Amino acid sequence: MPESSHAAVFTGADNPLELRRFPLPELKAGEALIRITCCTICGSDLHTYEGRRTTPLPTILGHEILGEVVALPAVAPCDVDGKKLSVGDRVTWSIAASCGECFYCTHDLPAKCDQLFKYGHEAINQQHPLSGGLSQYCHLTAGTAIVRIPSSLPDAVACPANCATATVVAALRIGGGCINETVLIQGAGMLGLSATALMASGGAKQIIVSDINPERLAQAVQFGATHTVSVADEDGELAEVIAKATGGRGVDLAIELSGAADSIQSGLQHLRMGGRYVLVGSVFPAPDVPVSAEWIVRRWLTIRGVHNYAPEDLRDAVLFLEEAHTRYPLESLVSKNFRLADAEQAVRYAIREKPHRVAVVPFGDN
Ligand SMILES: [Zn+2]
Ligand SMILES: [Zn+2]
Repeated sequence: MPESSHAAVFTGADNPLELRRFPLPELKAGEALIRITCCTICGSDLHTYEGRRTTPLPTILGHEILGEVVALPAVAPCDVDGKKLSVGDRVTWSIAASCGECFYCTHDLPAKCDQLFKYGHEAINQQHPLSGGLSQYCHLTAGTAIVRIPSSLPDAVACPANCATATVVAALRIGGGCINETVLIQGAGMLGLSATALMASGGAKQIIVSDINPERLAQAVQFGATHTVSVADEDGELAEVIAKATGGRGVDLAIELSGAADSIQSGLQHLRMGGRYVLVGSVFPAPDVPVSAEWIVRRWLTIRGVHNYAPEDLRDAVLFLEEAHTRYPLESLVSKNFRLADAEQAVRYAIREKPHRVAVVPFGDN
């Protein structure tokens, strides 16, 4: 075991990431030390890097992380199924760790714990510097939901599980499932394509995917979309497709993943009477969206927001990826690997080329 870990440190928008070295921690009860094998860069990392989202500084970005347990304390943590972890286990873990005792933890909302510890979002401090994925090692705190990864899952498929996949699993759970239903997925990025495959696996009858990017719409078909609609110009075509697919009623369930105000207004218009709308994409500051309360009341609409997710969503995300990765081209969504020393180039490549994901693979380069 080395005594220290390299990590790429973010000090503020417009500053290049700096490779620094941190000592490895002494582990306390319930903690774990992970050797990171892969970290995929998420859209929210890019929002932070470009200054559209604030975060405590300096920090180690990266929260879609996969790794191997390399050290455990005498009181080792368990995985989400209650089985003790062992050194050598291949794992991912929840984006946020929760205390299990506060008001929200005891009211079925651990995602909003009062003591929330969020990987890839914490300021570096002396007690716990290694909290992000752009690093060789990550120090897991007690209260982290840890999930074992089956050896059949390639790194590129498993790595986005703890952000993109678990979030859409939570959205579908909160949305009430989709068996035999017509669903609208707004946005065909990493989350939208994952949601499309999830709905197709989950028994949806028709899956209508909208986006402004024609290449992403073409990809959505490979992930199980039955209809794709460009909303680059105006909304008329989407209304037509939905009317035709549902006999004029509207969709049963819509999931909004873009966070764009006009997309949210459009989604509300396209729900059937009694329809459910789950908002996921609005995770950055944006103008308010005018909605008609009368429309919501008279149409019996349900609108829910989802941010972070519950531990069981991560477990279900990994189960879904295990059964679905041979049927949908999930692995193709990670387009390129970079070394940790090249983390800055990885971020710049992601901003410039806009692939769904790039990966940073920390070992073998230092
Ligand atoms: Zn993310
Ligand atoms: Zn709590």
